[in-house]
Amino acid sequence: MKFKKILAVVAAMSFAVAAFAGCGGGAGTSSSSSGSGSAPKTLKVGSSIDFAPFEFQDESQKEYQGFDMDLIRAIAKEMGSEAEIQNLGFDGLIPALQGKQVDVVISGMTINDDRKQNVLFSDPYYDSGLTMVVREDEQSIQKFQDLKGKKVAVQIGTTSAEEVKKIEGVEVKELNTPADCFMELKAGGVDAVVNDRPVNDYYIQKTGATGVKALPEKLTAEQYGIAIGKDNTELQQKINDALKKLHENGEYDKIFAKWFGEQKK
Ligand code: GLN
Repeated sequence: MKFKKILAVVAAMSFAVAAFAGCGGGAGTSSSSSGSGSAPKTLKVGSSIDFAPFEFQDESQKEYQGFDMDLIRAIAKEMGSEAEIQNLGFDGLIPALQGKQVDVVISGMTINDDRKQNVLFSDPYYDSGLTMVVREDEQSIQKFQDLKGKKVAVQIGTTSAEEVKKIEGVEVKELNTPADCFMELKAGGVDAVVNDRPVNDYYIQKTGATGVKALPEKLTAEQYGIAIGKDNTELQQKINDALKKLHENGEYDKIFAKWFGEQKK
C-alpha cells in the first residue's frame, strides 16, 4: 500500500518535471536569455517597400533589401533589439505610427515641418532632393519651370507631390508608387516624373531602364530622417544614440558604400 503511494507520487512528480522541461524547451527556442530577464525586444518598423535603393524586394531574397533596411537593422541591433519590418503604403506610414502599429518609420522620408506636427524625427541620416525623369526624346522639358502646361506623375503623399503642386499650371497625377509613375511616363500618360534624386538615378543606372533620362536640376534639397511617435522622446534618443554610434564605428560608411558605392564626406 505504502509502496504504491510512493510510486504514485514519483510518477506525478516525474510528470510535472517532464511538463516543466517541455515548457522550458519551448521558451528556450524563442528566447536566447533562457528565462532570465525579458525576452529580446522587437522594434516594429514601417516602410513602403517600393523605393530602391532604400527599400525594395529582391525576388531572389526573403528579406527586404536596401540602404534603409540595413541601417534600421543595424540601429535595432545597436539598441539590443531586432527590427521587424512591415510593408505599408507611403501615405499610410504616419497613420501607422500614430496608431502605434509600428514604433518607427524608415522610408526615405524627408524631414519637414508639416510632418513634424505629427511625428518626431531622428537626426538626418541621408541628404537627398528632388529631380525629374523624362522620356529620352523629350526636348521641351529641361528645367522645372518648363513643366508649366505639362502632365507630371508623383507618388502620393510625398514631398514631390507637394512641391509639384506649387508650380503653376502643372497637371499633377498622384500614383501609389514610383514604379507606377515611371510606367505612366513610358506609356505616354505623363510628360515627366518628379521623385527623389537617388531613386531616379538608381532606376536609370541600375535597373537598366531604357527610353528615359534623368535631368540634373534639383528642385529641393531634403534630408531623410527616421520617424518616431510624437510622444516617444525616449525612443528618439535611443535611435539618435545608435545612429551616432554607427557613424563613429564605421558601420554607417560601410552600409553607405554598399548601396552608393562611394564614401560620403
Ligand atoms: N522623400 C520623399 C518624401 O519624404 C519620398 C519618400 C518616398 O517615396 N519613400 O516624401
